[in-house]
Amino acid sequence: MTEPSVIEVRDATRAFGSGPDARRAVDRASFEVRSGEVVLVVGPSGSGKSTLLAMLGGLDRGYTGSVRVFDHDLAALDDRALSRLRGERIGFVFQAFHLLPELTVLENVTAPNLFAARPSAPDTIDARARVALARVGLAERADARPGELSGGQRQRVAIARALIREPALLLCDEPTGNLDRATGEQIIDLFGELHRELGTTLVIVTHEERLERIADRSFLMTDGVLGSGSGSS
Ligand code: ADP
Ligand code: MG
Repeated sequence: MTEPSVIEVRDATRAFGSGPDARRAVDRASFEVRSGEVVLVVGPSGSGKSTLLAMLGGLDRGYTGSVRVFDHDLAALDDRALSRLRGERIGFVFQAFHLLPELTVLENVTAPNLFAARPSAPDTIDARARVALARVGLAERADARPGELSGGQRQRVAIARALIREPALLLCDEPTGNLDRATGEQIIDLFGELHRELGTTLVIVTHEERLERIADRSFLMTDGVLGSGSGSS
């Protein structure tokens, strides 16, 4: 069965600079991601991965060509509609965990609700946060502060925060980049589990080829150009 497309990118180019200094960070990318897929973009530093991911998440709309996410043309959405789409259907995980040190783990996970277009009631959001923390294996650490946690645990908190609204799409930029090898393996396993249990569509950009073990398809990115994919679908 063919699943619906979650992402459709057509001829998308993102250039920085102008005149002779202009450089295409992403150069005529075209691809689709279907619901429930795990898609990896692997490439060396500077190849355009973060730029591409920012385009998929509507964080960078300075591109030409078209990026459609959940059937919305991102370039055509106003800021309000875009932030609603992001807040409700897309989760982000970055290399740096971006936790607020003065808040507890639970408060960090619920923090996005403070800025939500349609915030949930505090009781509801706390209950969801506890479910998300249990999912990432941190149910017992809800009251800890980030400074008391290991790097792997901090990334788990960031993943729980991204999951709080159970987004259908999770966009991850070098999610294992700040972790030692063994801890990185645990986080990769966690993504695999989340995908199996929640059916979340995952797009992960990374320089680490080992993430291919959880991917349905992977693209190689070189100097802004997406190379032909590999994988099962
Ligand atoms: P990666 O994530 O694969 O390391 P990036 O997407 O961060 O690569 O960067 C790709 C290229 O685009 C690099 O040459 C980088 O210097 C350039 N670039 C990225 N963001 C900007 C920006 N805001 N202004 C100018 N150049 C940028
Ligand atoms: Mg990057």
